[in-house]
Amino acid sequence: MSYADITERVAEAERAAGRPEGSVHLIAVSKVQPEPRVRAVLEQGHRLYGENRVQEAEERWSALKPDFPDTDLHLVGPLQSNKVRPALELFSTIHSLDRPKLAKAIARIAQEVGHSPNLFIQVNTGEEPQKAGITPDDLDAFVAECRSMDLNIQGLMCLPPVDEEAALHFALLAKLAERNGLKGLSMGMSADFDKAIKFGATHIRVGSAIFGERVKPA
Ligand SMILES: *Cc1c(COP(=O)(O)O)cnc(C)c1O
Repeated sequence: MSYADITERVAEAERAAGRPEGSVHLIAVSKVQPEPRVRAVLEQGHRLYGENRVQEAEERWSALKPDFPDTDLHLVGPLQSNKVRPALELFSTIHSLDRPKLAKAIARIAQEVGHSPNLFIQVNTGEEPQKAGITPDDLDAFVAECRSMDLNIQGLMCLPPVDEEAALHFALLAKLAERNGLKGLSMGMSADFDKAIKFGATHIRVGSAIFGERVKPA
């Protein structure tokens, strides 16, 4: 797989789903990847990247951003309340809003710094005890709470259980979003992004299929 193969597959899935070309945002998840691999994709013109750790992203992108200043960074991994301030400096969009305490911290710091990030609420569609996210039962109240804080909720995000059919979770997330009047759906990774597009994904988060298997830093 290469970047060009993936963009071709995204276009194909958009056509198959009767969706306008370019309507799906491809987030290239660059976490842990060696810099030359990321630079190669930047040089092919891609400008939307996802990271899962604030500090790792700060280190990587402080080196790359000067060369590619129009890069848009999204946080796709968990966010601790005490990292909200640096996260808001680096990321336009956070896909992992998963608890009331974090919502309150984001609302407060957004006020202080004078700009509010785009947010996706992470939903624990499989109701897995070890996994972060708002449960489907608690979602409507949480969306309302976030809106009352003037948070900029774009949509919902999920990470389906590894041993279940992802399509069921994509369909559930789409239903929950519609019920709450939300347009954004952040779902689908390397193994299943085609399927996610079929179920209405607006943002897919693709790492290893673009960059190759993640290698641990030495
Ligand atoms: C790592 C990661 C991805 C990308 O995973 P791949 O299987 O490499 O495509 C997507 N979403 C989140 C939240 C991740 O942490």
